[in-house]
Amino acid sequence: MRTQTSPNLVGASRAEIAALVGEIDPRPYRAAQVYQWLARRLAGSIEEMTNLPKTLRESLGSRAVVRDPEIVAVRRGEEGTVKFALAYPDGAVIEAVAMPMEGHTTLCLSSQAGCAVGCIFCVTGILGAGRNLSGGEIFGQYRAIMRHEGLIGASVNVVFMGMGEPLLNLPGVTRSVELLSETVSPRRITVSTSGIVPGIVKLAALERRPKLAVSLNATTQEQRERLMPIAARWPLDELLAALRSFPLERGRRITFEYVMLSGINDSLDDARRLPRLLRGIPCKVNLIPLNPDERYLADLAAPDEETISAFAGVLAAAHMNVTVRWSKGRDVAAACGQLRGQVIGERAAP
Ligand code: SAH
Ligand code: SF4
Repeated sequence: MRTQTSPNLVGASRAEIAALVGEIDPRPYRAAQVYQWLARRLAGSIEEMTNLPKTLRESLGSRAVVRDPEIVAVRRGEEGTVKFALAYPDGAVIEAVAMPMEGHTTLCLSSQAGCAVGCIFCVTGILGAGRNLSGGEIFGQYRAIMRHEGLIGASVNVVFMGMGEPLLNLPGVTRSVELLSETVSPRRITVSTSGIVPGIVKLAALERRPKLAVSLNATTQEQRERLMPIAARWPLDELLAALRSFPLERGRRITFEYVMLSGINDSLDDARRLPRLLRGIPCKVNLIPLNPDERYLADLAAPDEETISAFAGVLAAAHMNVTVRWSKGRDVAAACGQLRGQVIGERAAP
């Protein structure tokens, strides 16, 4: 009898699928077919696996389920950004975002149902810690959104920039990258971290290594600690040392994200310090004007455009590759730092 506690095929590795399917039909190609349906074709149920004999489907269905998080709310923004609230069977709710770009869609996934890092400019952090999501639960966000938006087969980039600190959940993130790699090249997957040094070292050793983005947000240790308490644990010099030894293939760069906060980290002195700090690291800098939140970030503001341009100008003059991320999805609270895992939109259409 299939129950809520039946094992979920979503998130199972090739070997785990082989063991389970092998009990029913020992021919290896059967297990390979099941894995393909789950990881490549993103099937939403065992019934959809139409090239399997009915008896195999029935037998598999009596032992396991295919379960993705349920989309419980959808908000569509003016620029095509879509924010999803997704619920897991234990009641955990997270948010994920789809952003149409030129030629592809970027999906922003959550790695945890909250965040313990506590950056003072981030609503997720202010609302506090949440549990780790398993590899299958993270991959389930991708599967559910790809199906819901009719994106199967489309060109997609994945960024781990939703709720949570991916490098405090390495087992979940690593498994999900492995599963995603069936349909998205690791070159199109980016993991963003607040600077968890041991996590960066472990990521560096992975065979299927995603791209790395680091939320720098400050140019001195003191300032960084004030904005990101985690910086006291893994100081700036240790972080930069780990990044200097991060393996990069030819032409690849590390992205540094820098949330711009008016009167706090937006001075020209900061701009001049930045290229000195990052010297020797192939990188690009992504300036992100603070996305506001009236309730939780009331005492912080984004700098005005002139200040941002002057800051970017100093970096460009120092030959740095710099972009300003005018965030998509602010109108539906889907931009960086605005995700919270509470259902605030309208209910999803059934
Ligand atoms: N925890 C990881 C990934 C999720 S946060 C990390 O910190 O890197 C993704 C990005 O959103 C980070 O670069 C973070 O600095 C940025 N961010 C957080 N709050 C923000 C806000 N209110 N406005 C703009 N960017 C924000
Ligand atoms: Fe966590 Fe990233 Fe938000 Fe910091 S910015 S609190 S690390 S999600």
